[in-house]
Parts: sequence; C-alpha cells; structure tokens
Amino acid sequence: MLAQCQPLYRSGKVADYIPALAQVAPQQAAVAVATLDGRLHSAGAAQQSFSLQSISKIFGLVMAMNRLGDELWQRVNMEPSGQPFNSIVQLEWEQGIPRNPVINAGAIVVADVLVSHYSASKTAFLTFLRRLTAEEAIYADQQVYLSELEHGNRNAALAYLMKSFGNIEAEVPQVLEHYFHQCATAINCEQLARSLLFLANRGVQPHSNEQVCSRRDAHRVNAILSTSGMYDQSGEFAFKVGLPAKSGVGGAIVAIVPQFGVITAWSPPLNRFGNSVVAMQLIQQLADELGLSLF
Ligand code: GLU
Repeated sequence: MLAQCQPLYRSGKVADYIPALAQVAPQQAAVAVATLDGRLHSAGAAQQSFSLQSISKIFGLVMAMNRLGDELWQRVNMEPSGQPFNSIVQLEWEQGIPRNPVINAGAIVVADVLVSHYSASKTAFLTFLRRLTAEEAIYADQQVYLSELEHGNRNAALAYLMKSFGNIEAEVPQVLEHYFHQCATAINCEQLARSLLFLANRGVQPHSNEQVCSRRDAHRVNAILSTSGMYDQSGEFAFKVGLPAKSGVGGAIVAIVPQFGVITAWSPPLNRFGNSVVAMQLIQQLADELGLSLF
C-alpha cells in the first residue's frame, strides 16, 4: 500500500510557512492502526517523529472541555467554517467568536482557557499527552517552537482581534506561546494512534481504563472532527472516508473509528488544503477496504 503511494509524493508540497518544517524530507510515509483490544499494526516510518501541529487542537480541546464544561461553548462555536484554517474574516462578522475549536482562532481561544486555568499550561499539555500515550518521551521540538514564534503574525492578529472583542482573557503573547508550543509537539504515528483511543471508546482510554472525558464530550469532539477536522476539505473527506478525522500541516492525519480504534497516517507533502496527499490516500484506502465509513 505504501509503495503504491510513491507517485503521490510529487503532487504535494511540504509546509513551508516556517523554516523548521520546510526542511523535512518529503519522501516519507507511515501508517498505524491501534485497536481498542490493545493491538497495534503499523507500516513504514511509524516510529519517526513529526510535528503534531493542528492535531494538537484535539488534545487542547479535551483539556479545556474538562476544565470549563459547557461554558466553553459560549466562547467558541461548533460550525464548519468554509474558510481556510487561519482565516480572520469571519471573526469580525461574528464578534470574536470563532466558528469552531479546530480552526486557528478557535484553538487560540482554547489555548487561552488553558493558560488561564493551569499554572503551567505547556507542561500540563505535555503531561496529558504522556499519560495518553503511556510514554514519557513526548516533548515539544524547540526548533519548531521558536520558528512558530518568529513567524506567528497571522495567529497574533487573530488573537488580538479576539481580545478586542473580549474573548481572550490572558495576555496575548502568553496565549500564543502556549498555542505554538502545543503545535510543536513531536510525536510518531504509533504514539498518536494510541493516544486518541479514548475518542473511539466513549471517553475511556482502554490501556489505563481512565475516563479521559465524558462519553458526551467524546461524542462532541468526534462530531466537530467530522464536520471541521480536515480544513476546507472536510466535506470531501466525509464523502470519501466517512470518519471523524483531523489533519495537521506536519503531514499527519488521525481518523477515529468508533468502537474499533484509531488510524493514523503521516507523510509530509500537503495538498492545497493543507492535508497530506499520501496520508489521505492511505486512510481512504484502509477505510474503503475495511468498510469503516460511519455513514
Ligand atoms: N502552527 C500552525 C499554525 O498555527 C498550525 C497549522 C495547522 O497545522 O493547521 O499556523
């Protein structure tokens, strides 16, 4: 399956909005499937770390839902945006309330919640991920983090605009630091697949039996991922694959298969929507062959 994707590498382009990501070698790919009964299948460079980027928005969201409860939904909406992930236009129309928590504006509000509710939010985020993966070796890549900070003007604009509407409580630089730090998390396909099993299992992490979030919140996160997780290609992904999923500009995609497990795929070249061309193809093929679509 991985070999068949070879011709696809050239149809995408590695993220180059920061130098640290532009340097990643394009011709790499991996896929991993973690199941609720504890099995883990993988192929390709499944232990090679990549930048978590936008997929970090899932973990931040779960932490914020746990801390703030339903109040969170007064500050961020749950509608697809129909705009690029870093769009600013809708924020003005909608009085500083982002369309959903997995576009950048929404994730920055979530980062504000974390910064305001944890004394050390960056550490809390990493601790959460270490607990979910059951691995200590999860860290933020300093080079990516510093690169994000240096090139973060668009995200700063989003944050300051929202602050002008009263939807950011903490100081903007602190909120951005948290956001960039979580985006810079280094993780591999196997770790990522295991970490999100609770979303396929009504909020319970199977290997530890920990109730990571309520059953209702697991359902809600999956609903948001189904409608908005794949940037401006979410409709097409639902049409072709039919699973809650999230992608990141590091080249990874994670797809949740309720009551079964989690599929992750990674390969750096991205299409024009910011989704990895090879990872899309791998997940689509697996979902198709295994008949996994929810619809
Ligand atoms: N760090 C990236 C940004 O905020 C994340 C983008 C993404 O993966 O969608 O621009």
